[in-house]
Amino acid sequence: MKKIQIKDLTFELFISQADLNNRLKELGKRISLDFQGEELVLLGVLNGAFIVLADLAREIDLQLSCEFLKISSYSGTSTTGEVKSILGLSTDLKGKNVIVVEDIVDTGISMNYLISELSKHNPKRLAIATLLFKREAFRFNYRLDYVGFEIPNKFVVGFGLDYDGFGRNLPDLYQLSTT
Ligand code: 5GP
Repeated sequence: MKKIQIKDLTFELFISQADLNNRLKELGKRISLDFQGEELVLLGVLNGAFIVLADLAREIDLQLSCEFLKISSYSGTSTTGEVKSILGLSTDLKGKNVIVVEDIVDTGISMNYLISELSKHNPKRLAIATLLFKREAFRFNYRLDYVGFEIPNKFVVGFGLDYDGFGRNLPDLYQLSTT
């Protein structure tokens, strides 16, 4: 089992780049069929989704545009504690078919926030695509339209996902080593 070290943590190979890309190919085909004859906006959630979006976009045989946004979180003074806002979204999504592209859905809090905010733009359709899904950690019951892999509740890096800023450039996906 191939192992790598990032800062203080050891990770082991989990899903190869080839397997990740094969799955994105399948999702791309499904999306192309589901939205046949329509235009799409692929909306990537930065930073993690930049590689997933680049690879998925090239597997979709439709007219599409690529947009990106970032969710900023900061501790507010309100009783809800953390305050979120969307940065960098400059496109009008009204009446458009939008697929939000994430690297991973974990507790689902970020995606829940995005769904409620992006719905306010009145898109024609709002769908969700995520390469990875930690079902055990998921706290909501909204539907994830396109899921690459359901994975255990362990920390992963590579293929766009980072540990403390590093590891996003690893071609394969690694999970935290327990040994
Ligand atoms: P949420 O809990 O809101 O679904 O996920 C929040 C964010 O936490 C994700 O977009 C991702 O950036 C980060 N995250 C969750 N699980 C992992 C993981 O296993 N590895 C990495 N690198 N980031 C994760």
